Amino acid sequence: IWALNNPMRLAGWLINDVQRFISSAEKVEELLETEPQIKSVTEERAVQPSNNVLEFDHVHFSYGDGPVLRDITLQAHAGETIGIIGPTGAGKSTLVDLLGRFYEVDAGEIRVDGINIKDWNIHQLREKMAMVMQDIFLFSDTIEGNIAYGNPDAPMDEVYDAAEKAEASRFIESLPLAYDTVVGERGVGLSGGQKQRIALARALLRNPSLLILDDTTSSVDMETEFKIQKTLKSILKDKTCFIIAHRISSVKDADMILVMQGGCIIERGKHADLMKRKGYYWHVYNNQLGNFDLTPLGEEVI
Ligand code: ADP
Repeated sequence: IWALNNPMRLAGWLINDVQRFISSAEKVEELLETEPQIKSVTEERAVQPSNNVLEFDHVHFSYGDGPVLRDITLQAHAGETIGIIGPTGAGKSTLVDLLGRFYEVDAGEIRVDGINIKDWNIHQLREKMAMVMQDIFLFSDTIEGNIAYGNPDAPMDEVYDAAEKAEASRFIESLPLAYDTVVGERGVGLSGGQKQRIALARALLRNPSLLILDDTTSSVDMETEFKIQKTLKSILKDKTCFIIAHRISSVKDADMILVMQGGCIIERGKHADLMKRKGYYWHVYNNQLGNFDLTPLGEEVI
């Protein structure tokens, strides 16, 4: 929800997608100038076979008015899907924004491939990540152009392939001009779920080692969400994926689910572990709605 009112956040991650186009995206660039001064290491690291481990080591963070993340410790390996779940305001988006180094931690350390993110060249670090947000930005361009944004040299079959994996190819092909259909402000209107699938295709085309889905499937129906998750599973074999969600169904199959509340990870484990625990997660699951924002807290819970 915050992302809707937070153009800075959108701009930051969008630029991450389209770094090579920075100079043409003047508005976005203006916004970026308000980004807090983050010092980047100039030289890039020699590209080595990476083990793709992400670690938060006792991370604390505040935007200024009181703690937003408290003592976050977690590890994610290549091939793992980490579900991050909890009510609005719990700190889920902040956690992934720290990973892209849009803000500096107050205490603790975040490491990627064993190296503190402060010691990474920031562009090289962000190049490894792709983020799909609930608040989708489409350029006034063709669908092909939108998927290939930031990746203009991608061959057409890779564009088709990314669309297929994002469960977008069927609706795209049903449009009169298919991939040549112009969308965005001056083009045909797409539903929220269709935009999300285009954004997912854009992210997949970049072939990131870390894919972050921030409430990405919130506007697609359950059946499409299920199909997307199934295809994601097979393409994420050597990648790490963070899925941020309000709805338990979006994270149920994750290798590790982190339940956040008030800036803390209050429960963690696989779905079955969390159900056995009979804590907050179990409570939300049993409330039928399975949605942290819609489920009232029971008295016995936290
Ligand atoms: P979630 O993703 O779980 O909804 P967020 O990480 O967006 O939670 O927000 C955690 C807390 O930090 C909330 O209280 C929110 O209002 C606050 N917050 C988020 N972004 C900013 C920001 N850019 N500046 C100040 N406060 C923020």
